[in-house]
Amino acid sequence: MIMQYYSTNGQAPVTSFKEAIFTGLPSDNGLFLPTEIPLLDDHFLAHLSEKSLVEIGLEVSKAFVGDEIQPDALESLITEVLNFEIPLVQVSEDVFSLELYHGPTYAFKDVGARFLARCLSHFVAQSGEKLTILVATSGDTGSAVANGFYQVPGIDVVLLYPGGGKVSKIQEQQLTTLGANITALEIDGTFDDCQRMVKSAFLDEAMRKHRNLTSANSINIARLIPQSFYYFHAMAQLQSAGKPVVFSVPSGNYGNLSAGLMASQMGLPFARMLACSNVNKVVPDYLKTGEFQPRASEMTISNAMDVGNPSNFARMNAWYGGDLSKMQLDIGGYWYSDEETRKGLKKVYQDQQYLMDPHGAIGYLGLKAYQEQNDVTGIFLETAHPAKFIDVVEETIEEKIKIPERLQACLDKEKQAVKMPPEYEALKAFLW
Ligand SMILES: *Cc1c(COP(=O)(O)O)cnc(C)c1O
Repeated sequence: MIMQYYSTNGQAPVTSFKEAIFTGLPSDNGLFLPTEIPLLDDHFLAHLSEKSLVEIGLEVSKAFVGDEIQPDALESLITEVLNFEIPLVQVSEDVFSLELYHGPTYAFKDVGARFLARCLSHFVAQSGEKLTILVATSGDTGSAVANGFYQVPGIDVVLLYPGGGKVSKIQEQQLTTLGANITALEIDGTFDDCQRMVKSAFLDEAMRKHRNLTSANSINIARLIPQSFYYFHAMAQLQSAGKPVVFSVPSGNYGNLSAGLMASQMGLPFARMLACSNVNKVVPDYLKTGEFQPRASEMTISNAMDVGNPSNFARMNAWYGGDLSKMQLDIGGYWYSDEETRKGLKKVYQDQQYLMDPHGAIGYLGLKAYQEQNDVTGIFLETAHPAKFIDVVEETIEEKIKIPERLQACLDKEKQAVKMPPEYEALKAFLW
């Protein structure tokens, strides 16, 4: 069976899974969504608590990939993608943390980036073509993408990042120390310059063909699909059934939250999702007023959520047919200032000896606010390892923290980057 993907703007043709992930964005500038989200098998859902993460990943991905990847190939692909743990850790009574940060770059984006990388690689291996992934990055996305494609046959990755201290030291090390098929270009300019250069390359038809350029942008549907696996995996690990379950999601572009909504449409029984943000609260505001007003983003200590125009809102809106009251039945909105975030982070560390990162702390705070009115079991998504935000975390808890070994190893490696002026001509000469 071939699964079909449509565009939320409704003006682009329906495509296959393969075409949707190679194209990334539909021609009408909408976002791809499956024409139908299949309900998972009753037997599978009833026996969820016996299933491993890989078994869950396989069952769910089959529903979206259809016959385009053969079962054995899909199984080895999923086994490779999910080669780290996603534990559910109890923090206090009825409060659990789903630790999504045990992958290679210590943030949840590893899950999506690895699945996209393996899927693209599977298809290029079949056709024998070679691909170049071109990405502009301001930090976390780039390292997840780079790691996801690291040593994947047939694929070269070229990353553009702004030099001169515009990304953190940890982020820069993660981008520039891989080697092999990953090349980092340190651009003497801003993130916007990097994005403009990448855009020029995609608009350069000759270049696009010559290098077979593809994007690994976060709106790619193959980054969303695997993020639904861990909602199932969380429920599978939650043994204390009885109370309704609520997921609280620290959000920026709302990919994680959208993946949770997909899991619910597939039949995962949970009561509600909480959309939690920092001061960039476009979606919580929408949930309150019905008005969606994108605005320039403001900088916060939870900087991976500093998004003023969340791209996956188009997907959420499509599922609810633009009906606010329907969305409100499933999703509640919360937001917190940096000061509140720090207070929450510190309090949980002192009272529960559980250390969160600033993003997870926002999910925790939203959950606690909801639990003041509602007797539920809550799971918040812990999206990054606290050591990734070491400065903020140490300053907040007034203690030094330990950097995980693998992260430290990356800090000790030698940086390898090609310096480049912020001009497309330079990128063109490099790629040709
Ligand atoms: C990207 C990111 C987020 C936001 O996730 P979305 O899917 O864009 O809502 C939250 N926390 C961390 C650590 C991230 O890197």
